[in-house]
Amino acid sequence: MKQLQGKRALITGSLRGIGFGIAEVFAREGAEIILHGLSDVDAEIVQARKRIESLGSPRVEVLSHDLRESLAIEAMMDIALEGGPIDILVNNAGIQHTAPTVLMPTEKWNEIISINLSSAFHTMRLALPAMAERGYGRVINIASVHGIVASVAKAPYVAAKHGLIGLTKVVALEYANTGNRESGGVTINAICPGWVETALIEGQIQNRAEKFQGNREKGVEDLLSEKQPSKRLSNPTDIGETALWLCQKTSHNVTGTSIPIDGGWTAQ
Ligand code: NAD
Repeated sequence: MKQLQGKRALITGSLRGIGFGIAEVFAREGAEIILHGLSDVDAEIVQARKRIESLGSPRVEVLSHDLRESLAIEAMMDIALEGGPIDILVNNAGIQHTAPTVLMPTEKWNEIISINLSSAFHTMRLALPAMAERGYGRVINIASVHGIVASVAKAPYVAAKHGLIGLTKVVALEYANTGNRESGGVTINAICPGWVETALIEGQIQNRAEKFQGNREKGVEDLLSEKQPSKRLSNPTDIGETALWLCQKTSHNVTGTSIPIDGGWTAQ
C-alpha cells in the first residue's frame, strides 16, 4: 500500500525546485498532485506533468495563478477545491532578492512579502475548513533557515520567513484539537531548509564561482563553508521525504514545529 493513496496534494511553486522534489516523492507514494507555478515555457509544464505521472500519481492537474495577487489565489483555491478535497497543502512558492536594506527596491519588498508570506495565509484560510471537517489535513510551509536566523542583504526574505514560522504556530494552535488519532488530525508545520540545489540559489553560486575563474564546484564549496557545516547541498527530494513523514497519520501530534534541514547551520 502506497503511503498517500487516496490523498490529494496542492504544492505551490512545484514546476521546479523544492516543490517539484516534494511532488516527486508524493507521486511515488500514489498521491493525486496539483502542480503549480509560473512558467512561460509550455515544454516545462508538459515535462513536469509527464514525470509526476510516470512516478505513479493517478491524477495530475496544473495551475498557474500568480501568488502576488490575493484574488488570483482565491481563484486558484476555488478551482482546486472544485476538483475534490485538498488533503495536503504545501506552501512552497517563494522568491529571493539580495541587497542591503537601504538599497532594497520597495517593489521587491512587497513581492517577497506577498509570495513568501501572505500567499500562505490565503491558501490556509481557504483550505483548512474542509480539512477540519474531514479530520485529516496537512499544511507544510516551506520556510527556511532564514525563518530562524538572519543573514545580511536579505531583509524581506528573512522577515517573510520569520513571519511564516509565526503564522505556522498560530494556525497550528487553532487546529490542534481537530480530528483524532485514527483520522490523523490537522497539523501545520514549517520545514526550514538550508542550501538546496535549485535555481533559486544559482545566482549566489555563480557569484561565488567568479572568485574561482567560474569553477562552480569551488563556488558551492565557498558558499557552504560560510554557514552550512555539513558542506553538502540538499536535494529537493530530501525535503520531500521529510514532508512525506509529516503526512503520515502517526505524525498527528507533530504540529506547530519548524524543522531545520540545514546541515547544522542553525545549531551554531
Ligand atoms: P525555485 O526558484 O526553483 O522555484 C520557485 C517556484 O515558485 C517556481 O515554481 C515558481 O514558478 C514559483 N513562483 C515564483 N513566483 C511566483 C508567483 N508570483 N506566483 C506563483 N508562483 C511563483 O525555488 P526553490 O529553491 O525551489 O524554493 C522553493 C521554496 O523553498 C521557497 O519558498 C524558498 O524560499 C525555499 N527555500 C529554498 C532554499 C534553497 O536553497 N533553494 C533554501 C531555503 C528555503
